[in-house]
Amino acid sequence: MNYQKIYRKMRKRYILSALSIFILFTSKQAIIQLQISQMEKMSRAMNVAGSQRMLSQKISKDVLMLYQSDDKKAIESYLTELENSVEKWEMYQNNLLDGEKKRQLIGIHSAKIESMLMESGQFFDKILRASKDILYLFKSGEYDRYQLLEKILIIHNNEGEFLNRMNDIIYQYDEENRIKIKAIQQTEHFLFAIMIILIAFIAVFVFYPAEKTLKRAFMDMNESNENLIRLFRTMHGAIYLVNKETDVIFMSKDAEQFISMDTRDSAVNLKRHIKWLSINLEAVLEQIQKDEKIVEMEVEVQDRYENYSIVLLSVVKGEYRGIQTFLLNMFDITMQKKAEESMKNMAFTDELTGLYNRHFLDMIIHEEIERSERYNIPFSAFIVDLDNFKQINDKWGHPTGDSVLKKVADIISENIRMSDYLIRLGGEEFIVLMPHTNLHGASFAAEKVRNAIEIAEHPLVGTVTASFGAGERKKGETYRLLYDRIDYALYEAKESGRNCVREA
Ligand code: GH3
Ligand code: MG
Ligand code: MG
Repeated sequence: MNYQKIYRKMRKRYILSALSIFILFTSKQAIIQLQISQMEKMSRAMNVAGSQRMLSQKISKDVLMLYQSDDKKAIESYLTELENSVEKWEMYQNNLLDGEKKRQLIGIHSAKIESMLMESGQFFDKILRASKDILYLFKSGEYDRYQLLEKILIIHNNEGEFLNRMNDIIYQYDEENRIKIKAIQQTEHFLFAIMIILIAFIAVFVFYPAEKTLKRAFMDMNESNENLIRLFRTMHGAIYLVNKETDVIFMSKDAEQFISMDTRDSAVNLKRHIKWLSINLEAVLEQIQKDEKIVEMEVEVQDRYENYSIVLLSVVKGEYRGIQTFLLNMFDITMQKKAEESMKNMAFTDELTGLYNRHFLDMIIHEEIERSERYNIPFSAFIVDLDNFKQINDKWGHPTGDSVLKKVADIISENIRMSDYLIRLGGEEFIVLMPHTNLHGASFAAEKVRNAIEIAEHPLVGTVTASFGAGERKKGETYRLLYDRIDYALYEAKESGRNCVREA
């Protein structure tokens, strides 16, 4: 799965959904704000209409008080009151009709209110004109009570109508306001519903797929990790994944066999917790770091029980979760090595006596002869053949014969030097190869061995003897020719009564 692509798609969707929620939310707020501010303007108009009603009542009261008062001072005060009221009243009415900035009156009303205001205009005009006339009458001093009464009556007659109209207007404002509130509520509900739908849409098309993808990604990650670990655990051979500091990230089950016991709970480190006997791990890794090569080499280590082991080590440079790693594979070949060793031993050893056999002779003789020839080193040999061995077999049986052979083999090896080779040629015939030895030395050694055999006592058979043919290699002589000469010397020893050494 291409998570990079999915991630980009998801991000685009997230940004888009966040943006659409933001836009929807702000526009919802803006619309509602606008509606509320319109409502506020309307309620202001409602207030002004209310005070117009009060003012008209006050004007009516003021003119009555003027009519009734005789006291000049009281008349003065009522006149001022009336003048103020009329002025205010006129101003408010104009404000209502045309709008006013300071009070934020819009002056634009519904058609119904507009016509109602127009209709109230005739009553307003009559009251206003009458009030102004009264004020004029008083100011000019030409007033007569009849005239005053006439104006008062006009005011009184029209006041009721004006009040009714104003009431109707207020009621109409109220009604329209209620409708507006309802509209705001509806808008709010509508936008809320859209928002819910949008969120649901986002949940279904953005969050849910995102969650699914994320879950899938985590599962994939876990799975591949688990698979890796499982693979690691089940792979044969010791496998370690380590970082540059050789701290182990993973290791296979078999890998534990080389980790020393003293790790306890601490993190396993290959430098500290494996005892490397034949290499410097750091140097090997440095080499791989440079060459990027896979190496496969035989390495000696100690296993966790401190047994010596030989392993085939291969190392690969790699990367795991963004860090540089090495993958080490150690294949334990100790058993193979041992088997190989014992196979070699088996191939070159005589089973009965534990001595070297003919195969061993074939393997080394060429090199020994060549060395002797090249560096002019003396090389001698003698053959040992037990005397009348057939009779021993006949008399005591084959197994006893074998035990005599073993005993004789021991005696010979005890009486020759470390640098000499003792080889069982077959039957009761042995050869001793003696590098760095001349004929004299060989005869001497043969004589020593002869004597040792002669005096040795076998618990059943008693004493046995052997005959010897000894010889030194001549310059240019092959092993075959040397052997033939020595063999002839042995024949001579037998001929001359056995239990003796003859030189070739
Ligand atoms: P001589 O003094 O002339 O050497 O007499 P000999 O009896 O030793 O004669 P020969 O060399 O002909 O006989 C060798 C005998 O060694 C024949 C065989 O029975 C016996 N022999 C050969 N290999 C083995 C062996 O592995 N074990 C036993 N027990 N006997 C063997
Ligand atoms: Mg023989
Ligand atoms: Mg013999």
